[in-house]
Amino acid sequence: TKHKVLVSRCLLGHRVRYDGGTQERLAVLAAWEAEGRIVPVCPEVEGGLPTPRPRAEIPGGRGAQVLDGTERVLTHEGADVTGPYLEGARICLELAARHGIRVAVLKARSPSCGNREAYDGTFTGTRVTGEGVAAAALRRAGVRVFNEDELDAARAALEALDHLDDAVRPPQPDS
Ligand code: SF4
Repeated sequence: TKHKVLVSRCLLGHRVRYDGGTQERLAVLAAWEAEGRIVPVCPEVEGGLPTPRPRAEIPGGRGAQVLDGTERVLTHEGADVTGPYLEGARICLELAARHGIRVAVLKARSPSCGNREAYDGTFTGTRVTGEGVAAAALRRAGVRVFNEDELDAARAALEALDHLDDAVRPPQPDS
């Protein structure tokens, strides 16, 4: 069985980044695409935001707090864009359920997609330990979220899932 993997659309070269830029297509991602594994998503665009769009950050950088309603996502100008971020996270969970997703590769440090770090809400480029809103939702749903610098680990996690499914399970002793 080849498990599917949820991938940030901007890592696939789709023009969805807030600044309209693109990323180089990475070899691992190209291989997954050829295997039909990739479920692409851009939580911000699918949550209803335009491209290009104003930069946004979560004060404190904790996407889980946005899910819990104790923090908001704000643009540089102070506009509250929490709604589209929550909608994007909801769409990610829906895709994960529909496709049996257990592994995701999402863009590092995005207020939606970041898995380990985020910007702190001061728009000064200051990074803190944290995560984006969609990444937090997926993590809570039991999906392992990697970023584009962790593709080897993501590939290993995906292949382990494939092998687990393919393994012939011996009958379990009673002991
Ligand atoms: Fe979309 Fe996530 Fe990429 Fe931002 S980081 S452009 S939300 S896929």
